[in-house]
Amino acid sequence: VAPDAQGACPCYHARMAAKIIDGTAIAAKVKEQIKEQVGQLKSQGKSVRLAAMLVGATAAGEMYAVRQGEACRAVGIEYELVKLPETATQAEVEAKIEALNRDPAVTGIMVHLPVPKHVDEARLQQKIELVKDVEGVNPGNLGMIVLGRAVNVPCTAMAAFELIKSTGVSIRGAEAVVVGASEIVGKPVALLLSDERATVQICRSATPDLAGHCRKADILVAAVGKAGIIRGDFVKEGAVVIDVGINRITLPDGTKKTVGDVDFDAAKEKAGWITPVPGGVGPMTVAMLLGNVVKSAKR
Ligand code: NAP
Repeated sequence: VAPDAQGACPCYHARMAAKIIDGTAIAAKVKEQIKEQVGQLKSQGKSVRLAAMLVGATAAGEMYAVRQGEACRAVGIEYELVKLPETATQAEVEAKIEALNRDPAVTGIMVHLPVPKHVDEARLQQKIELVKDVEGVNPGNLGMIVLGRAVNVPCTAMAAFELIKSTGVSIRGAEAVVVGASEIVGKPVALLLSDERATVQICRSATPDLAGHCRKADILVAAVGKAGIIRGDFVKEGAVVIDVGINRITLPDGTKKTVGDVDFDAAKEKAGWITPVPGGVGPMTVAMLLGNVVKSAKR
């Protein structure tokens, strides 16, 4: 940058606000590639079909499944919604999964959550054939991440990881802080970053100085589920900030709004890169699921 009239570099005077990581646009590009791959598989006579199980459907669950079906069909993936009643027993749900495991036309299986209270979700996830487990929730697939040989990674963790990579910022040697340690987001994303040679810290509910840890992060992933828990002053200058959180808040005028875990307006003044909510990790998660369906079909 050319020096200004006083001979000083203008970079020192005006700090640029963060670049927004546009998850919707990046997901659209990924979906184009997926569509091509699905086309190739189909031209070889191969099936690419996701069977999604909905046990005891709620209105929200049904709506989510409809949108998921649309996302699949848009890239050429066949979508089969398998509905079981609220009263279905553990054995009945497991028997259905086993039937889908055996069906050669079905290349991917997932179970919509939540399932009714009397059904053990972890046992269902263990029943899904490893190769068809498109959400990467079978302990066998989670274990492959520990081994550094991940195949199907939980979609949200993969989305966060791919969005970090999309910035071009070096993960190797970076200080990374992951806030939240769920099996489907925090833990797998921490392992993926570690395997790229980042120095990773995982913060949890008992972490005494969350702000202090976050302020050291070149890469900060928030996956908590608490609106605004990551304040602007927690963010290191120039950091990559990935906001996984989805929280519904009520504004003073009574309207509802979806926000992340990060105070976006304050954080974007300090971050180098930041994901918005909505429009960041969410759309990329859908794209990663479709990508896992294709991977499973190829396998
Ligand atoms: P989760 O299973 O509820 O886990 C939340 C994690 O946050 C826990 O590990 C918890 O720590 C930690 N935590 C809670 N309070 C904390 C605090 N004060 N300081 C530090 N850590 C704290 O959540 P999840 O399933 O990973 O989801 C997290 C968020 O991501 C939610 O808002 C969810 O809606 C959203 N999400 C978004 C997508 C998407 O597609 N964009 C997908 C999945 C989830 P402990 O375990 O120590 O209690």
